[in-house]
Amino acid sequence: METDAQPDSTTPTDLFKAAVAGSVEADVFVAACEHARGVALLGTVDSLLQWDEQTMLPQAAGEFRAEQVAALAAIVHARRTAAPQGERLQQLVESNLVNTGAPAVQATIRRLHDDFVKQSRVPGRLVEALARTGIEAQQAWSQARAAADWKQMAPHLERMFALKRELAACQRPDLEPYDALLDDYEPGADWRAVQQRFTRLRAAIVPLVQACVESATRPTDGILRGPFPLSAQQTFVEQTAAAIGFDFQRGRLDTTAHPFCSTLGPHDCRLTTRWDEHFLPTALYSVLHEAGHGLYEQGLPPGWFGLPPGEAASLGIHESQSRLWENLVGRSPQFWEWCFPAARSAFPAALAEATPADVAAAVLTVQPSCIRVEADEVTYNLHVMLRFDLERAVITGDLPVADLPGAWDERFEADFGQRPPSAAEGVLQDIHWPAGLIGYFPTYTLGNLFSAQLMAAAERALGNLDEQIARGEFQPLLNWLHREVHALGRTRTSDEIVAEVSGEPVSERFLVESLYRRYGPVHGLPAEPPAAC
Ligand code: ZN
Repeated sequence: METDAQPDSTTPTDLFKAAVAGSVEADVFVAACEHARGVALLGTVDSLLQWDEQTMLPQAAGEFRAEQVAALAAIVHARRTAAPQGERLQQLVESNLVNTGAPAVQATIRRLHDDFVKQSRVPGRLVEALARTGIEAQQAWSQARAAADWKQMAPHLERMFALKRELAACQRPDLEPYDALLDDYEPGADWRAVQQRFTRLRAAIVPLVQACVESATRPTDGILRGPFPLSAQQTFVEQTAAAIGFDFQRGRLDTTAHPFCSTLGPHDCRLTTRWDEHFLPTALYSVLHEAGHGLYEQGLPPGWFGLPPGEAASLGIHESQSRLWENLVGRSPQFWEWCFPAARSAFPAALAEATPADVAAAVLTVQPSCIRVEADEVTYNLHVMLRFDLERAVITGDLPVADLPGAWDERFEADFGQRPPSAAEGVLQDIHWPAGLIGYFPTYTLGNLFSAQLMAAAERALGNLDEQIARGEFQPLLNWLHREVHALGRTRTSDEIVAEVSGEPVSERFLVESLYRRYGPVHGLPAEPPAAC
């Protein structure tokens, strides 16, 4: 795709026309793209309402905002599944264009057609029931979590899991129910292949966590406890995000309770973070993470915004970009070699006695804990794999919703050697299940697998990546990601992207090796996994 090179005066319509010039279906293709782009435009209005809700909304305005979001969702669903669009896509998928067009054209036809068929199979009644149950369940979740009371949550989750089973059967009757749900977040993924990778990953990580915790030379993070004055943090963190390549002419950073990255348009990417005066990593690593998502969004071909060549390939690929910058770049000794002088001048009191190596070791602290969102890089995947196994068992009917708390505690004890003190720190901690995000969790760990495999490929391609990072030269890595990952948009599946770039199928091996290499030596352990891993 040559979309990056288009002159500024080229409109998306010109681009769609140029992509199929001379074809007998040119007009149909352009009309289908314009329709899809119109739906995406409304989607960005929804994103703006939700960004505003998370960052700016007065407390009393919540109910009206829910009405606005619901009204817009109904319009979007009706437009998305409009019959004339279905007819256009049917015509295109039966045309020569789907096999002979440019790769961006072929992908646009196939993906739009598949999306349309899938969405049209879901009755409006089910869309509405899912939305309503999601809102009620999330409200119940806030109270249930505060009271650590599973009984308040159980009936809502019963309903939500039942609706998601129904959704799976409607939208992808050709797939097993869990794969049908996974398809919403990680198109083309197959739970059996995911489970095999996760099983091997877990077998390698559990002993690494144990060895780190028992290590006599384990690093501590006292040096990161500050205080780090907030205004200095804001400047430091924003400068760091800009240094890795986030374009603040096309984005912003704002404050929220739960950090996220949201795209409101091809040149409008919003990062959010929270701040902690007494722990520098809270904001620094959440901004590196969200900026990693933002770099992906800013790297997608803008002319194709809202269409498959301009969309993210999957949540797993999205997460691979955030994890790559947060962990593989941001927690490396080379990163701190470069970053330390700026950090010390921003926080002269807190870092007066520190060296770059001290900080680089402190950000590799491994500390098993009950809460996923506070987990370190090594234990994080154990939290995710637990949720993947449990939600799949509920969807297949092997595990009744009522048995979730017991199953959770048992598995947690097996992996972490302790039981959560209450349901609030166990089965009730995440908003995903009440929000209906079932099949979403595995994309976090898939993102970690992809990031390690992509980084290994980048190291091979760029040669002296460590030295570049130590000098604060991030552009070669970012250009490489733009070319090999971002520019592809949603024209390939995640497995295809990673396999093509790295020259071998997706494997957990890269993540296992990366974790041992980076966490082993600072804990006085070997830098390589034992042979059995
Ligand atoms: Zn993320």
